[in-house]
Amino acid sequence: MSGRRPALDLPLVARGKVREVYAVDDDRLLLVASDRISAFDVVLPTPIPDKGRVLTALSVWWFGQLAPVLEAHGATHHLVGADDVPAAVAGRAMLVRRLQMLPVECVARGYLSGSGTVEYQRTGAIRDVVLPAGLVEGSRLPEPVFTPSTKAEVGEHDEAITFAQVGDAVGSEQAAALRELTLALYRRAVEIAAAAGIVLADTKFEFGTAADGAGLVLGDEVLTPDSSRFWPAVTWSPGAAQPSYDKQYVRDWLTSSGWDRVSPPPELPADVVAATRERYVTAYEKLTGQPFG
Ligand code: ATP
Ligand code: MG
Repeated sequence: MSGRRPALDLPLVARGKVREVYAVDDDRLLLVASDRISAFDVVLPTPIPDKGRVLTALSVWWFGQLAPVLEAHGATHHLVGADDVPAAVAGRAMLVRRLQMLPVECVARGYLSGSGTVEYQRTGAIRDVVLPAGLVEGSRLPEPVFTPSTKAEVGEHDEAITFAQVGDAVGSEQAAALRELTLALYRRAVEIAAAAGIVLADTKFEFGTAADGAGLVLGDEVLTPDSSRFWPAVTWSPGAAQPSYDKQYVRDWLTSSGWDRVSPPPELPADVVAATRERYVTAYEKLTGQPFG
């Protein structure tokens, strides 16, 4: 099977590490999630069964949950539907409004983790967002913060940027709107996740604008284990990497495997694949309260 041949008889607009974007018509796109998994910005050779379906179903669910927050801010989301899609991609495709995407990844963090910890340990801040002293990996922040990053070209790494740099990219008014909406969506998602026993440590949103409207439109996937850190609340304990429902497990396995992050990544063993699939499915079931099927 060629992994690079388009699966659908539609024009392929973009192919990311994990998803393909097809044009349906001038106004609509089909976002198709594969079972591919990436870590450290590299696609691994081993797919995770059902991952595409889990991420799509979770994203669709979150768009529904977040609609009231968006509406309160004069914003909307891009989802048109996920049922009426070609059979070849059933369950793992979203029909969406085609947007002009803003060139910023809108990251919200309520806890210190990952690249945030690395930068904080060096500078006491994440770009212009100064944080209190004494925080460690997994610490809860005094309040959620907006730590945007660039939208890197294929093969490049996203880079944290200052709020002023967001302003340079989209204008200061739009930058302020992005920060406010990102934090409002994050706060609501934190509440929902907490009710399911999950700590939503951080997440990344992407917004765009539609040709026919002035407001921000929430695009891309939302609040999936690929765009967020989900930690079981019961095991949350700052000071080290947290057990998680996301791909931290795979990152940790890759690190322990001795992979140098430069050469082609190793195949994942069957037990790591199964345990990773289980984490994605569990995240879905806990959050939505519905069995994954
Ligand atoms: P990466 O693999 O690093 O994530 P990527 O972000 O380019 O690379 P995907 O996330 O797989 O790849 O692809 C989704 C692409 O579609 C992103 O560029 C995203 O900004 C874009 N996108 C999402 N929703 C919309 C939309 N409604 N209209 C136009 N583009 C969109
Ligand atoms: Mg992406």
